[in-house]
Amino acid sequence: MIASSQVLIVTGGSRGIGAAVAAGAARHGYAVAVNYKGNRARADAVVAGIVKAGGKAVAIAADVAHESDVERLFAETDQALGRVTALVNNAGILGPLGRLDAAAAAPLEELFAINVIGTMLCTREAVKRMSTKHGGGGGAIVNVSSVLARLGGAGETVPYAATKAAIDTFTFGLAQEVATEGIRVNAVSPGIVDTELHPAGRLARLLPGAPMKRPGRPDEVANAILWLLSSEASYVSGAILGISGGR
Ligand code: NAP
Repeated sequence: MIASSQVLIVTGGSRGIGAAVAAGAARHGYAVAVNYKGNRARADAVVAGIVKAGGKAVAIAADVAHESDVERLFAETDQALGRVTALVNNAGILGPLGRLDAAAAAPLEELFAINVIGTMLCTREAVKRMSTKHGGGGGAIVNVSSVLARLGGAGETVPYAATKAAIDTFTFGLAQEVATEGIRVNAVSPGIVDTELHPAGRLARLLPGAPMKRPGRPDEVANAILWLLSSEASYVSGAILGISGGR
């Protein structure tokens, strides 16, 4: 059981994997900042579920791609819950679907701004609060990557796959950078997970390629994330943990 002084920020916590992380973390005693971009009703529902079960949570709107939003997300969490001890960089989008030769610059920039720069900005703010170098008490960070970082996403999601490859490198690079400062940095690499990330029909189309012939559930990814955050994973850092049902 995690001590209640643990404070988690989960980006994109209003639905899907992020919502499962928020609910699971609250069950383990974390106070949870549930970040979202636009869907306040969904974030409020996640918070209400946690509070109803006896936990502590707040919903905080912030676009992770915007530096001032990210700074406010962390400042509001400081005020509402205390200094962050755990961060899950979960917010992400699929971006433009299709071949690269049909992709325009603006959606590519938005994709990298959210999936890559957003993760880096949130991590920067977390490191400033967690690092013993800055007077912090340490912490744990989990980034949400994808098996597509390895598979490449040819024909449909090459740019998205490239953002997740950036996340993998960022994870094991930063893990070494802050290894002596009380911070562990890991990533999970999910396969196909049943969430609203997928446009209608995409999940069914992808399933024949899934070894278990079923999608993962958000809680199956959240369980691995919660383990990586926990003291049970105290010597795990720089790891990319596949949660893909076999590939
Ligand atoms: P989802 O159901 O589409 O949820 C996405 C969440 O991210 C929502 O809470 C959304 O909030 C938030 N979000 C989007 N843009 C944001 C921004 N700029 N700033 C802050 N929050 C933002 O997605 P999911 O499937 O749970 O995906 C979560 C993570 O898992 C993503 O990084 C995704 O790449 C990764 N992943 C998913 C799968 C899969 O098959 N589902 C597989 C591998 C990896 P609002 O609704 O308020 O905008």
